[in-house]
Amino acid sequence: MKVFKFGGASVKDADAVRNVGNILEKYSGEKLLVVISAMGKITNKLEELVTVFWKNEVEKKQIIIQELKDFHFTIASNLIEDKKHHIYSDLEDLLMELECVVEKKYHNTSYDEIYDGVICYGELLSTKIVSDYLHSIEVKNKWVDARNFIQTDSNFREGRVKWTETEETIKRILKPYVDRSIVITQGFIGRDEHNNTTTLGREGSDYSAAIFAYCLDAQDVTIWKDVAGVMNADPKQFANAVKLDAINYNQAIELAYYGASVIHPKTIQPLKSKNINLYVSSFLNMNDEGTVVKIDAPALSNECYIVKNEQTLLSIFTKNYSFIAEDNLSAIFDAFAMFKVRINVMQNSAISFSACCDTKEDKINEMVIALSNEYTIETKPNCTLLTIYNAKKENVLPEFLSAKKILLNQELGMAKQLVLA
Ligand code: ASP
Ligand code: MG
Repeated sequence: MKVFKFGGASVKDADAVRNVGNILEKYSGEKLLVVISAMGKITNKLEELVTVFWKNEVEKKQIIIQELKDFHFTIASNLIEDKKHHIYSDLEDLLMELECVVEKKYHNTSYDEIYDGVICYGELLSTKIVSDYLHSIEVKNKWVDARNFIQTDSNFREGRVKWTETEETIKRILKPYVDRSIVITQGFIGRDEHNNTTTLGREGSDYSAAIFAYCLDAQDVTIWKDVAGVMNADPKQFANAVKLDAINYNQAIELAYYGASVIHPKTIQPLKSKNINLYVSSFLNMNDEGTVVKIDAPALSNECYIVKNEQTLLSIFTKNYSFIAEDNLSAIFDAFAMFKVRINVMQNSAISFSACCDTKEDKINEMVIALSNEYTIETKPNCTLLTIYNAKKENVLPEFLSAKKILLNQELGMAKQLVLA
């Protein structure tokens, strides 16, 4: 049994869906579960919808809903000509449901809960289209709602998987279906015990694929991407970037942790614990060898460069000149955890603590306000975080960053990290 994952770029338009069809045709009749993300940049569009709904911007809301309708109907009609085909009423049903979700606000519903209730429609719409297209080219498959299987707690937007329940339901109910035909399902979405939709965090579909693979005892997982595999740097920024042929689980976890965007950070752990190989392959050249992540891959010999833009460096100073020791650290970390602001790199000295975070973390400002009774906080936006993993020699900054100033420099284990502005 295999698990495949196709991300947004692999289903961004009708031709892309046809390409997915070409790949899956070759696996017709095999035991295969396919996890699919929302089409193209639809998740961002749905995020906009949540924002305007939250702000009561009714006109903008209508415009976005119309855009979502047009986008999905255009792709569907490009793939399935027969206007009487049930795909059209299925899409209509889903879009109507979505419209109702953003119709009015209910008391006591948090922003994050609404977010998950809205954002899941990207994956639901996309999998419906792909599944029906596959039927139309006679690739037998079954569409299933991932929320019935991926059970999480109620930590909206970052649901934590309830492994025991999830594994039990997948083995008992889903597995017999995967034994019979290709199963098409959504990445990224789950459900809590109150029947609310939850999500696993942006870009969480890789993680979904790993969860299904773990619970189904799959033989391997393939993530189909628009790149040749896992590269040691972004080829758009580094002319000498090369593909990595094989990576062991531990180094893959570290690379994902530092932000190598090809693999979602939580993906490797479940695979590692059952020794399931992970392939990262190109959906553009399906016969090329991509990257394999497996237990016995040799340690990497290449240096890896990971660049994260749109970073904010927060420098936090104690007002009373007390040291940054256990009590202050604990208050600071509590604030980061409470406002769900993730730290990409941190450092502390006697009376200051620095943390570099993604600027788009929407609660940074609220967190700064909450901390500012006790601390003086300097915020520096527009920074870049460069991580050099497996750093070998004296590194020279890549040319496109060489004019920048180094604000923070840290070497820990195999990684050297620089915050630049
Ligand atoms: N559609 C979701 C996102 O864009 C999940 C994923 O693609 O992995 O974040
Ligand atoms: Mg995506």
